[in-house]
Amino acid sequence: WAGTEYEWTQDVDNTLRNIFNLDSFRPQQLSAINSTLSGQHSIVVMPTGAGKSLCYQLPALVKPGITIVISPLVSLMEDQVRSLKNRNIPAMLMTSSSPKEETQAALNLLKDKDTKIKLLYVTPERLAKSKRFMSNLQKCHADGRLQRFAIDEVHCCSQWGHDFRPDYKFLGILSNMFQNVPILGLTATATSHVLTDVQKILNIPGCLIIKSTFNRPNLFYKILEKPSSQEDCLNILEKLLKYRYKNETGIIYTNSIKDSEELASGLRKKGLKVGCYHANMEAEDRSKVHLKWHDKHYQAIVATVAFGMGIDKPDVRFVIHHTISKSMENYYQESGRAGRDGLRAECVTLYRMQDIFKISSMVFSSVGVLGHLYGMVKYCITGNICRRKLIAEHFNEDWGSDDCNQMCDVCFENNINTKEIRLESHCRTISSILDYADQQDVKLTAQKLLDAWFLKGPVNLRHKGKSPDIPRILGEDIIAFLLVENYLVEDFHFTAYSTISYIKKGPNIDFAQDSDFVLNMPVRRYT
Ligand code: ADP
Ligand code: ZN
Repeated sequence: WAGTEYEWTQDVDNTLRNIFNLDSFRPQQLSAINSTLSGQHSIVVMPTGAGKSLCYQLPALVKPGITIVISPLVSLMEDQVRSLKNRNIPAMLMTSSSPKEETQAALNLLKDKDTKIKLLYVTPERLAKSKRFMSNLQKCHADGRLQRFAIDEVHCCSQWGHDFRPDYKFLGILSNMFQNVPILGLTATATSHVLTDVQKILNIPGCLIIKSTFNRPNLFYKILEKPSSQEDCLNILEKLLKYRYKNETGIIYTNSIKDSEELASGLRKKGLKVGCYHANMEAEDRSKVHLKWHDKHYQAIVATVAFGMGIDKPDVRFVIHHTISKSMENYYQESGRAGRDGLRAECVTLYRMQDIFKISSMVFSSVGVLGHLYGMVKYCITGNICRRKLIAEHFNEDWGSDDCNQMCDVCFENNINTKEIRLESHCRTISSILDYADQQDVKLTAQKLLDAWFLKGPVNLRHKGKSPDIPRILGEDIIAFLLVENYLVEDFHFTAYSTISYIKKGPNIDFAQDSDFVLNMPVRRYT
């Protein structure tokens, strides 16, 4: 699609240079533009910051008619309309909170053959709930002036995505109702499962999928051992902010509102300028915090994942995860807010075993999500596999084995101190502890299991052998490893107040009983 000459090629080039003031396309932008200009239904999959908007903004200008842009976030649409107007591109926005006159003007322009407006931005609920809008749109279509639909964040159609929005389901009628109007979906979610689902919901099976690589060569990925006390976590964050990221701006993601408030106030007590951001705050306070961070009054925002879509700061130099994300997909999206300017930025995760169970007991009820969480755990506990390689595998990509350029801690530290340890004797001990607990009708959490294994817990649960000759933190990694490899499984129990994750023997543990059983685990570096 990119190398071919089309009747619009010259126009496309001129528009890129003269209207958007850009010299060249980024990977896959031209393919997407040519595909949609040729009238194909297409879905563009590119990481955040790769330049998806150009894929519909530019085509809108080279053909007659109106492009309808559907997007879930009003603030993002406002930004886009503003920047289009700055380039003298006539664009308009219509949301459910638009003033009456604006809504009227937007409705009229759909009927107006002489309108200059090229792009009309609407929220999905506007489309779904306004009969007048739909009938005017049909009029526009009948007059041959409906050029295309661009559906931003198109993964919101799918319940499998991380961001399902019920109003997006309604968009399924577009392809039937407006024959011959190409649909261009755009998303940063690359899971094939979600993409197939989106095609089904939009009724565009077999549409062209244009995907650019998800490799972000300028991001450095690192895991730090997370201390058990909040106080020690604060000390680590303080050091990072005061020395490593001095004069730089970034995000600290936490898993709960409580954590984000505690860490923000702890860091402030240490003299750092940080803001706090979560869903329980008033919208007005949230945008104040966002703005202060954007303008560098705050070095960092300590936030839950509510701080997400709509961050368009290009020079985020670090994204620190105080708790692991619930999947690699989520981790990629969250950490990917770093380094959008292409300069080096760091993605650091504080990992410890206990957090697995914090998250698993929160998310276990949705089908299949434990697998997603365990993918994240694998990424954290690897001792000798490049972290970027694990991310690439998640996106079914191969970034080439030498391509990390030492941009992850595993490659940078060149596997120093990693060795394989044999797990069979540990596996047997753990298996016997679980049997023993079972006989006494006791359920063990991962912590209790560790205690028993290291002869620290209640006497009645201790095994007859010696305490293992390894640091306890390695014991934690072994349990996490056995869990993600199905030697152990989680068993959830509910109380009125919480869900508790207990550890049971998994389907694979029987192998551990065989005499020729060998299971090696790469040991990560402990600092
Ligand atoms: P996305 O929607 O994929 O997150 P945007 O469309 O917001 O990304 O684009 C991110 C940034 O990249 C914007 O500042 C945009 O101007 C810039 N950009 C897009 N395409 C190009 C290009 N071909 N050359 C240079 N900069 C570009
Ligand atoms: Zn690497």
